[in-house]
Amino acid sequence: AFLGGLSFPLCIREAASGTPGVGKTTLGKELAARSGLKYVNVGDLAREGQLYDGYDEEYDCPILDEDRVVDELENQMSEGGVIVDYHGCDFFPERWFHIVFVLKTDNSVLYKRLETRGYNEKKLKDNVQCEIFQILYEEALASYSEEIVHQLPSNKPEDLEDNINQILNWIEQWIKDHSS
Ligand code: ADP
Ligand code: MG
Repeated sequence: AFLGGLSFPLCIREAASGTPGVGKTTLGKELAARSGLKYVNVGDLAREGQLYDGYDEEYDCPILDEDRVVDELENQMSEGGVIVDYHGCDFFPERWFHIVFVLKTDNSVLYKRLETRGYNEKKLKDNVQCEIFQILYEEALASYSEEIVHQLPSNKPEDLEDNINQILNWIEQWIKDHSS
C-alpha cells in the first residue's frame, strides 16, 4: 500500500510514432515484473482508445490527443505505483511522477536497431540525430524538478540489468523516505 503515489515515466525519444528502439518498453516491462509496479504503454493506450487528434503526413502517423490521454490515465495515476512508457513527458501533470528516466542510446547502435525495423530514410535520419536525445532530456528537465530526472545509458544488455538494479534501489529508498 505504501507504494501509492510512486510513478515513473520512461520518457524517451521517438520522432513521431512507431518504435524508436532505445529500450523503453523492454526496461518498463522488466521493471514492472521485478518491482510489482503497474506498467502502462501510452502508445498502446492511444491505439486501443483511438486517442488521436489528426494525422502527421510527414511522419505518416497519427497525432496523439494529449488531453484525452491525460484524462484516461488520471484515476490510475492518482492511485500511484505506475510506470508510464512514452517518448515524451511534457504534457503529463507534474504531480504524477516521482522519478523520470530518459534513456539514451549511442547513434551507431540506434541506427542498426531502427534499420532492422524498416524505417524510411527521413525517419531514420530524424531519429538518429543525437540532438534529439538532448532535446528530450531538456524537455524532461523543463517539465520536472531537476533532482528527479535521470538519464540512463541503453546500449547493451548489461545496461538494462544495471538500470533495473539502480531503479529498484531508488524505489526502495523512496519507500524508506516516504514511510513513517
Ligand atoms: P522502445 O520501446 O524504446 O521502442 P524497445 O524496448 O522496443 O524500445 O527496444 C528496441 C530494441 O532494442 C528491442 O529489439 C530490444 O530487444 C533492444 N534493446 C532494448 N534495450 C536494450 C539494451 N539495453 N541492450 C541491447 N538491446 C536492447
Ligand atoms: Mg516501445
